[in-house]
Amino acid sequence: MTVRAKAHRLRPTTVAAMLVLVASLPLPGVDLVSPAAAVRKSAAVELPVFQSSITRIGPNQAGRMSPSWRAGCPVGLAQLRLLQVTYHGFDGAAHTGRIVVHERWAEPVVDVFRTAYDARFPIRRMRLVDRYQGSDARSMAANNTSGFNCRLAQGSDHWSRHAYGAAIDVNPVQNPYVQGPTVLPAAGEDFVERTPRRKGMVTREVRQAFADIGWSWGGDFVTIADYQHFSAAGG
Ligand SMILES: [Zn+2]
Repeated sequence: MTVRAKAHRLRPTTVAAMLVLVASLPLPGVDLVSPAAAVRKSAAVELPVFQSSITRIGPNQAGRMSPSWRAGCPVGLAQLRLLQVTYHGFDGAAHTGRIVVHERWAEPVVDVFRTAYDARFPIRRMRLVDRYQGSDARSMAANNTSGFNCRLAQGSDHWSRHAYGAAIDVNPVQNPYVQGPTVLPAAGEDFVERTPRRKGMVTREVRQAFADIGWSWGGDFVTIADYQHFSAAGG
């Protein structure tokens, strides 16, 4: 850039000062808004409104769910619903997540994600566990928020509440499963210590949203701490 060209450019500070001056001029019929309030307002407008859908599991979707559902699972595909919900990503943008739950919980769970979105609670990703071949370990390692998965409870011989579509794991890395020296996923090690609160850790608003639909939080379990886990009565 030549010196001559530079001399004709307005410095950013000059432009900013001019904008503030223009914004502060009283205009007839126009409500005056402080610059800070205007910024807050525009930031709130940038995020799209929450959207959701609840659909039955059709033949194509059933085919895609072969890793997470099979004959002999405690609930049939006809009892499950595919939810698509807007969520606030770690990148600050709005994304569409996909999660499967029991039809009984479809609408209440949409309410939870609406509350989480309105509270700007960040979710790293929300994909069906079938994207991870139904492997809970791989889904957790990917920091995936997930619901239905026809599997046994961790370290047990009984069905997990996930196998009933009655449980959801939220941001597993920031909210690990902790039992003695076991931390799942391994990347959650830094989050065994729950203070200070960091991005993606479940908040009071999220816990309350699940409590409002009658679900309990694994962080309140007595024998283990399953910070990512929310479920309908029964564990
Ligand atoms: Zn869980």
